[in-house]
Amino acid sequence: MRYSALKVLTQGLTGNKGWTPAWREPDPKPEYDIVIIGGGGHGLATAYYLAKEFGVTNVAVVEKGWLGSGNIGRNTTIIRSNYLLQGNQPFYELSLKLWEGLEQDFNYNAMVSQRGILNLIHSDPQRDAFARRANAMRLSGADAELLDRDGIRRMCPFLDFDNARFPIQGALWQPRGGTVRHDAVAWGYARGADSRGVDILQNCEVTGIDIENGVVRGVQTSKGPIRAAKVAMCAAGSSGRVAALAGLRLPIESHVLQAFVSEGLKPVIPGVITFGAGHFYVSQSDKGGLVFGGDIDGYNTYAQRGNLPVVEDVCEGGMAIMPMIGRARLLRMWGGVMDMSMDGSPIIDATDTDGLYLNAGWCYGGFKATPASGLCYAHLLATGQPHETARFFRLDRFRRGAMIDEKGVGAQPNLH
Ligand SMILES: Cc1cc2nc3c(=O)[nH]c(=O)nc-3n(C[C@H](O)[C@H](O)[C@H](O)COP(=O)(O)OP(=O)(O)OC[C@H]3O[C@@H](n4cnc5c(N)ncnc54)[C@H](O)[C@@H]3O)c2cc1C
Repeated sequence: MRYSALKVLTQGLTGNKGWTPAWREPDPKPEYDIVIIGGGGHGLATAYYLAKEFGVTNVAVVEKGWLGSGNIGRNTTIIRSNYLLQGNQPFYELSLKLWEGLEQDFNYNAMVSQRGILNLIHSDPQRDAFARRANAMRLSGADAELLDRDGIRRMCPFLDFDNARFPIQGALWQPRGGTVRHDAVAWGYARGADSRGVDILQNCEVTGIDIENGVVRGVQTSKGPIRAAKVAMCAAGSSGRVAALAGLRLPIESHVLQAFVSEGLKPVIPGVITFGAGHFYVSQSDKGGLVFGGDIDGYNTYAQRGNLPVVEDVCEGGMAIMPMIGRARLLRMWGGVMDMSMDGSPIIDATDTDGLYLNAGWCYGGFKATPASGLCYAHLLATGQPHETARFFRLDRFRRGAMIDEKGVGAQPNLH
């Protein structure tokens, strides 16, 4: 299915009737300037910006599966920049600005749809917290409004405003939030990187990282050794396992997160809606399916599938704010492996090994970060200096006690 969809897309782009791959399938070269481990959204975006913004094209993206097989093709596609903390808000706002110009930038239709995101408020303290967050957003140049019940009712009359336990009191509204077709993002970045000379090596697993006297020399892969002056880890939910190849233990746990899609319905949900008294978020895809999710399953795993208790929990969240969802039939569900960091925020940094870099800890919010993460990681790899906007995402912040704990729950990865 995925390949036939891609074929149609590439035919549309080239006008050819035959199969025209959107990117080459090269054999690995013996040596590159930079090897990126992980061909998910962040790895491909990094390669794209390395080539486009910094002219670094002797780059390989090494992916153990196929493009889109990881979280870039598994997420619920929500983009937003409604963060509070200084380390996060400007970074996610940069990312949202990049989303806004992305399709023109890489000349690919990624269905960027800024239909807005509505974070529901159910209590007075929550209103205070969201007012504070809205102010932080505005200070960083983002858009934010507080809506009252009437304002929400005009947009979403179907919500259960007077639920006995969770009455809706208002909402934080970010009109520029929305959704983007996730796997098209991988394809767009891959095509843009490939056309500039980057080698994308699919079905090629990194099995070792070669280090001599504290300096990285390259990687071992299922297609043989590859030498490299710089190795950039970018393996999302597998970050712990990849870092272990270099003898590193990360402040990260891997957890599974599930996503759900209903049967196709007529347009009913205008944008993205999130429940404020539990964890539930929902949007509607252009095909009509309600796309929704909630919390991670809460136990450590590398399995890309979840369990039933969270299904029940997510459905309870949906029923609490929009009981009509109980009439929709569930069509499909799946899981992806999250790299949950100790403070819920990511890491973009050099490691103590010369030439070895780390991009990880995106938790379940890394899709929206894809463009800014790629740009900032490319900046670090090309210049050796952290990008101004990502300067707080340092690995040593856990040692320094300079956590970026957006939720304020402490070193509890399963709660972020
Ligand atoms: C169900 C679900 C819902 C989500 N919803 C949202 C959302 O609405 N909004 C949002 O912002 N974020 C969301 N996320 C989070 C987001 O998808 C991730 O944070 C982000 O995609 C991670 O970055 P990535 O795209 O690079 O990851 P991936 O696509 O997982 O890329 C990592 C790649 O590394 C590869 N790899 C691993 N080990 C090796 C190896 N040894 N050698 C070579 N390759 C290797 C993997 O095969 C994989 O392709 C969601 C995630 C899930 C699972």
